[in-house]
Amino acid sequence: MIKVLPKITPESSYLCYSRQNTFDIKLVDDVGNPDTGKIIHFNINGQIIKVKTNSQGIAKCPLGNFKDGAYTITAEYDENLVSSSINVGPGSVDVIRNIGNPSAKKIAYVVGVHPLEHETHDTLVKLLPTVPGFNYCYDIYVINVVENVGHYGDGSGDNSQGRQNGQNLAYNYVYPQIVNGGYKLAIDVHSNVGAYPYKTFVFSPVTGGLGEQYGRAVAKTCADVVYYQLGQTTSGPYLTIPLNNHGVPAFYFEEYSFASQAQKDTHMMQLIYGVDGLKL
Ligand SMILES: [Zn+2]
Repeated sequence: MIKVLPKITPESSYLCYSRQNTFDIKLVDDVGNPDTGKIIHFNINGQIIKVKTNSQGIAKCPLGNFKDGAYTITAEYDENLVSSSINVGPGSVDVIRNIGNPSAKKIAYVVGVHPLEHETHDTLVKLLPTVPGFNYCYDIYVINVVENVGHYGDGSGDNSQGRQNGQNLAYNYVYPQIVNGGYKLAIDVHSNVGAYPYKTFVFSPVTGGLGEQYGRAVAKTCADVVYYQLGQTTSGPYLTIPLNNHGVPAFYFEEYSFASQAQKDTHMMQLIYGVDGLKL
């Protein structure tokens, strides 16, 4: 028996690529070592881009010239060929999967819908993987808007193109994954500049269902997070409202943008433990 190694394999798998990302493949030789200095022909909808493999055998195909949309990208070297379907947009969408108990019920966190609220997003991404002994299994959907992000302060209510880019990425690439992904709950993480009676709170944009019930139950366990029913949000129609209406309970977590990092950490841990203590 001769073991035939796949010589070209995709190295990246974003749900959506930004134009600042590259589509990466790895080339190995007959014994599986990185094959360096070889020219890979990438073919994206008929456009050929030639890229040389680096010292790790990786070739990075730039995506900067491609409009928003879906593409078939083929990487070819010699007789070897690999083909992938990719999406390109104004930001990337990635998933950090299987944090916690991988055989338990699944819960999704979403960060990055509004790009300037990133300090709160970064806090979740930093803390969630460090917590031992979870009851549930967590996936974090990470939206990273890179175009028209805006110049206003972190968490401003200004409805800029950057916010709309994030909302569109959420609806196109995160919503389908969560609504079809067997999740029991989704939490959309945001921050605000303090225009509301409460600064750190949770709420479901759809009242009377499990989204609200879970949000209220979580708030009861938190010393510093209340349930505060916000009337209307710009992002609701792109994620949390359709999720609630199609079988996945969902609520928002809103942090105060100008809380210290220590406060953000404390509040996030309260949220994380409150969610993990739910009876789903
Ligand atoms: Zn927001």
